[in-house]
Amino acid sequence: MLLPDYRVRQRDYLLEISRAITAQLDLDEVLRRILRASTTMLVGQAGLIALQGDEGLRVRAVYGISQAMLDHFSPLLTDISIRADGDLDIPKLDEKIQKLAQAVDLRQVVALPMSVGSEFVGVIYIFRTYGGSFSRNDHRVLESFADQAAIAVHNARLYAGAQRERKRFEAILEHAADGVMILTPDLQIESFNRALSQITGRRAEQTIGRDHDDVIVWRCCAPGADIHAALAAGWPAPPAGERPTDTLYVEGDLVRPDGTTISVGVTYAPLLDAKGDLVNVIANVRDITHFRKAQEMTSTFVSVISHELKTPVALIKGYASTLRREDAAWSPETLQQSLKVIEEEADRLTTLIDNLLQVSRLQSGAFEVDLSGDVALDQLANRVAENFRTQTGKHTIVVDFPAGFPKVPGDEANLRHVLDNLVGNAIKYSPNGGEVRISGTVHDDKVCVSVTDQGVGIPYDELERIFERFYRIDDALTRKTQGTGLGLYLANAIIEAHGGDIWAEGKPGEGATFTFSLPRYPTPSML
Ligand code: ADP
Repeated sequence: MLLPDYRVRQRDYLLEISRAITAQLDLDEVLRRILRASTTMLVGQAGLIALQGDEGLRVRAVYGISQAMLDHFSPLLTDISIRADGDLDIPKLDEKIQKLAQAVDLRQVVALPMSVGSEFVGVIYIFRTYGGSFSRNDHRVLESFADQAAIAVHNARLYAGAQRERKRFEAILEHAADGVMILTPDLQIESFNRALSQITGRRAEQTIGRDHDDVIVWRCCAPGADIHAALAAGWPAPPAGERPTDTLYVEGDLVRPDGTTISVGVTYAPLLDAKGDLVNVIANVRDITHFRKAQEMTSTFVSVISHELKTPVALIKGYASTLRREDAAWSPETLQQSLKVIEEEADRLTTLIDNLLQVSRLQSGAFEVDLSGDVALDQLANRVAENFRTQTGKHTIVVDFPAGFPKVPGDEANLRHVLDNLVGNAIKYSPNGGEVRISGTVHDDKVCVSVTDQGVGIPYDELERIFERFYRIDDALTRKTQGTGLGLYLANAIIEAHGGDIWAEGKPGEGATFTFSLPRYPTPSML
């Protein structure tokens, strides 16, 4: 029998449920409330809601049914289909209920499908302990609750999908290799990823809510080529008569909080709403230091190489054409001297070409050292010294190795290249002469070889940089001394390939010492 306030109660319940759905309460809580309301409205004793998943129907909410009894309801969740009229088709429902009644005291059932559009999302059951059947009105009441439940499920799925998308987006943003920040139309920072923290040297927490200009501080940047100027000119709308360009690219040196700078390229992309209004600006910040370095390197390479190739070629050509003159008769001494210059310059060219080949092998990864030899560094040092003694009158070359200096595993030709380079530099960079000492020391698991000169020395902040490719100290002596800045770079590569280390010491005006260490015994990587 219907209660007099039946409709009022139904409306109140439905209102309560709508509020719960709008407040985005947890889906289980919303389904529990729907079940409680519909069971009460239908004067039932128990109810359950099962939702359709990949593996069929699964119970998601129960009312008046204990967990222990739940298994008895499983036959009600199998073989269910939807009829053409939209109602449920549950074969042998009566039989199933009779069976249920033996275990649980429930005799009467009403079941309705929950659908969103044409999609079947689940089923709602209400049970009564007494026999008989549910009225048409009971069906209508339950229908209104089933609709609410379907909306709740639909909303929850949409919400879960949106959450998943948001998480995915956040993960992409956070782990992107480029720095990314999302800005409001008036350039306030809304989000700031990890890579951008590394590039700018600022933590995300310090930047959210701050202004774009607090983070993107340019040291130098082409005037007018920034986001403010672009926005003032109407970006992202193209200037009149121009084709639309949806992104804006700005390149320059960014100042970090510690005062250092970093070269970056920033691409600003607009995010527009359906009306075409600017909602966000997405700034993609890329560290272009390596790119710039590579560009600088290429131009250094071209200028160094062209200079280094031109000089010996010009000398060889000059001497050769002088000697060829038919109107002159050269004394044997002049002939000897001129041919000596030609020979030396040809040697220089060969060394330069060898070095360039080594560098290109290093870059292509084809550089290999043969570590199977047993190298007597003391003997090698004597041979190198002997060779250089014939080339310099100003320098005294001393070799100082303890007796019984152990042999080390290594590639003799390459180690000779290192020693030649170090001794050659020691002579080149001590223009006033002095002593060049090649000394060896023995340690437990390694040997060290040092080349010490009494030359111009090396400023502290250049001690590491001189091992970089093409790097030469920018001073008067180096400028007038021939060289490519490749010798120490190659020496370092060779020593590293042997599992050793190389470093420089010394102060300006006090000479320099270059030392390399090599393992005494084969290391696992050599075997
Ligand atoms: P290169 O001698 O061809 O310029 P290197 O790679 O051998 O190239 O050396 C790099 C730079 O290191 C040199 O240009 C020079 O400025 C500096 N340098 C190398 N050896 C010495 C040394 N013994 N004393 C002072 N400066 C040195």
